[in-house]
Amino acid sequence: MNKRSWDAIIIGAGIHGASLAYHLTLHGIKPLILEKKFLAAGATGRSSGLVRMHYDLELESRLAWISYDYFKHWPDRVGGESGFVRTGFMQFVEPESTDSLQANIRMQQKLGIPTLLIDGKDVGRLAPQLFHEDIQFAAYEPESGYADPSSCTQAFIDRARERGAGLIQDCEVLGLLIEGNKIQGARTSQGEYSAPVVVNAAGPWADKIGKMVGLNLPVDTWQHDTMFIRRPADLSDDHPSVIDFPNSMYFRPETGGLTLVGLEDATPKGEEPDGDTERAKPGFVERAIDRICKRIPGMDQGSLHSSHGGYDGITPDQRALLGKAGPEGFYLDCGFSGTGFKIAPAVGACVAELIVHGKSETADITPFVFSRFESGVLLKGDEPYENIWR
Ligand SMILES: Cc1cc2nc3c(=O)[nH]c(=O)nc-3n(C[C@H](O)[C@H](O)[C@H](O)COP(=O)(O)OP(=O)(O)OC[C@H]3O[C@@H](n4cnc5c(N)ncnc54)[C@H](O)[C@@H]3O)c2cc1C
Repeated sequence: MNKRSWDAIIIGAGIHGASLAYHLTLHGIKPLILEKKFLAAGATGRSSGLVRMHYDLELESRLAWISYDYFKHWPDRVGGESGFVRTGFMQFVEPESTDSLQANIRMQQKLGIPTLLIDGKDVGRLAPQLFHEDIQFAAYEPESGYADPSSCTQAFIDRARERGAGLIQDCEVLGLLIEGNKIQGARTSQGEYSAPVVVNAAGPWADKIGKMVGLNLPVDTWQHDTMFIRRPADLSDDHPSVIDFPNSMYFRPETGGLTLVGLEDATPKGEEPDGDTERAKPGFVERAIDRICKRIPGMDQGSLHSSHGGYDGITPDQRALLGKAGPEGFYLDCGFSGTGFKIAPAVGACVAELIVHGKSETADITPFVFSRFESGVLLKGDEPYENIWR
């Protein structure tokens, strides 16, 4: 009945399944990727693609910085295209978070990340389109920007397949094969496949996969809408990518004179991950237009281009879930909580090392273990901001 044995099975062909497959093949491991729909069909294909290093948790800044090198040098490092566009990135915070902002910038500078503290006047000089009267200080990353998540997924998969990885699309994992507490493979809509290692890279569906091995993963679903607006002619110059805490919003330029806008509040949890992603929720576009017009005066002369929704898996501390859990041979690579695209290259390298050598060398990903939720010690930065998603 088994069609073929593989070194490992990866469930999900989003950016994380793809990155892991690529990095496993660099170690000579041949994984099979099982995808119930098609490449980037989940969170990845809906992602806004922001690439920045500003986090309040050092480990996430570290993973983002390691990943940045991939995005910047993609054709030479991976092959294919990442679609990386350098726009510069600004992080705006409320005045009461200024001390945390400064401390986080110092933490990131120690990691070698090009970032600096600027004041409101600097914001006005660097990005004259932006209203900056309410900004005391901001973080500025001149090298950051955005990349194309679908393109990166495709490139990782292409390279992995050149090195012997398999990919089966339209192939839903229905159950996992376990004998004597050891993973043996997967039962799918296209038959059974055997492997001593199975990785849960199923994004917002991760909890459903966990249940197949008797685990209750603390991965809920997170729903998030975005819209594209066409800037009016007098705002046609590109602006930087921005996370704007005072307005609970982020935005970045897109090719063709567009601006992408997402909001940080009203991101519902607990919906079915197969819900409607073709349309944004009622009222989203109106709220997003109000907020972008506050930050970019004159945007009220622009026009709506399109809007859509998306789902990701979210954990209680809004950080990833990585490493071994459950039966021998079962690994987690999920829970990316709406910010997982930009760290995917480094995470793939780390999880591959963990599988092959029992320990990750690129960065120590131990803090992302499942057991932190059992012990109740959740991850928190030294100078924390509020959770980004509400
Ligand atoms: C609207 C939106 C905007 C975002 N913006 C950003 C951003 O600007 N920057 C950033 O860093 N991050 C962003 N994120 C987060 C980021 O996109 C995600 O964290 C990342 O894409 C998650 O990738 P993944 O591979 O874990 O999951 P996914 O891309 O969801 O992939 C999981 C795959 O598993 C497959 N699957 C599920 N169940 C099964 C099964 N039983 N059998 C087989 N296959 C299965 C699914 O079909 C899917 O293709 C955003 C997310 C969304 C939704």
